[in-house]
Amino acid sequence: MHVAVIGAGITGLSAALALRARGANVTLFEASNRVGGVITTIQRDGWLVEAGPTSLTATAPLEALIDELGLGAQRIGTQPAAKRRYIVRGGRLVALPAGPVSLATSSALSTGAKLALLREPLVPARRDVGDESLAALVRRRFNDEILDYLVNPLIAGIFAGDPEWLSVKYATPMLHDAERKHGSLLVGAVRELKARRGIVRQKGITSFTGGLQTLPMAMALALDDALCLATHVTGIERHGSGWRVAADGRHSGVRAFDAVLCATPAHALGAVGLPPEVGDACAAIARIAYPSVATLALGFRRNDVPHPLDGFGVLMPAVEGRSLLGAIFSSSVFEGRAPAGHVLLTCFLGGVRQPGLARLSLPEVLPRALEDLRLLLGVRGAPIFQQHQVWERAIPQYGLEHEHVLRAAERIETVLPGVFVAGQWRAGAALGDCIVQGQLAAARVAATR
Ligand SMILES: Cc1cc2nc3c(=O)[nH]c(=O)nc-3n(C[C@H](O)[C@H](O)[C@H](O)COP(=O)(O)OP(=O)(O)OC[C@H]3O[C@@H](n4cnc5c(N)ncnc54)[C@H](O)[C@@H]3O)c2cc1C
Repeated sequence: MHVAVIGAGITGLSAALALRARGANVTLFEASNRVGGVITTIQRDGWLVEAGPTSLTATAPLEALIDELGLGAQRIGTQPAAKRRYIVRGGRLVALPAGPVSLATSSALSTGAKLALLREPLVPARRDVGDESLAALVRRRFNDEILDYLVNPLIAGIFAGDPEWLSVKYATPMLHDAERKHGSLLVGAVRELKARRGIVRQKGITSFTGGLQTLPMAMALALDDALCLATHVTGIERHGSGWRVAADGRHSGVRAFDAVLCATPAHALGAVGLPPEVGDACAAIARIAYPSVATLALGFRRNDVPHPLDGFGVLMPAVEGRSLLGAIFSSSVFEGRAPAGHVLLTCFLGGVRQPGLARLSLPEVLPRALEDLRLLLGVRGAPIFQQHQVWERAIPQYGLEHEHVLRAAERIETVLPGVFVAGQWRAGAALGDCIVQGQLAAARVAATR
């Protein structure tokens, strides 16, 4: 079976490897001249920056992939200091409580919000509710303060999103299931964490000594001659019982395949040239919102940052009215990110909250980021290292209309037998979800024979 995979981001790479393992002959087309899609590790002058995603969360499929690729020795976990998480409250950094004991004394939440947390398991579950916004769920089961000071900043950190617009069912399915299965989000979360304890406890948040790019590069190496870089797919049309794929660029030409898997972002699906009968479905998928996000990595001399940076980073509630969505204390999280005597902070700007900030130039955005860092961390002077990256369309937002997106994806696979679609816009945007989606898509492709 000869299969074309379009897009060598983590989804396409994962699908191509899984197809190879099933004995398929794979051609992987990638428009740019490198693999990994948004995974962008930059090494310069002793600094190691993640300009896109910053870390992976350990899951069983990820562990299997790391073993298969022989990457165990290069893999690194977070440093002990990274356990603590900060939010901003009243213009100051406040550590989030790590458990029930620290909750009692924490100044991150008022007594009213602490009581709302403790009462949540007693709030009657509504199993009749179809889908609702994450904000509606949190107001229903907790209160406005939990929404403003816990959920809003967390969602800014994960999706660059806004809980008012995200679907509970599709953006946070664990919470949706928890209310249905356990009658409580907290009880469900505790049970889920216990179930995953082995892997999450041991491995937790992960990267590699050479940064996240290590993973797609190893996947590409394993695929060897299957990869066609700098080759843009422009057309897919029926050809007997299979498909003909037209491509422009380094490996231009028209080739015949038994099946085609499109692993592009939602907004790029229209441009792969699927037949017109799925034009509406492609348009529905392309409507999914992708806010702009900028990452700004700043390096300082250790002495110029008075804060101990004893945490993973800081998340910013929207009600605090600052420019940053948050900042990761990158050199505290993973070793080897900054030269000795220096620290690296990675700031995030834009998202659904303030998309315009993501599109500012470096001279425009730097003073705003520094103003927040001065206020929050006491940062002095100018950074001695800067790396600015704008993601025009960063992370897909699974809103209340996500059901339509899923139906459109199913329609493409039904109307065009042998054509498949997968990626961050369909069933989870986290890297781990994309790996699983690639593998599941490979299984669907293999099942057609
Ligand atoms: C700033 C940022 C921070 C993030 N942080 C994290 C994080 O810390 N942890 C986490 O788990 N997730 C994170 N994510 C999300 C995660 O990185 C992405 O959802 C995931 O990498 C998407 O992978 P993908 O393969 O589906 O898509 P992409 O990475 O977008 O890859 C798609 C590929 O398709 C190619 N392509 C498009 N059209 C064509 C065509 N016509 N022909 C050939 N090739 C084509 C593109 O060039 C691209 O390489 C972050 C995302 C961003 C943007």
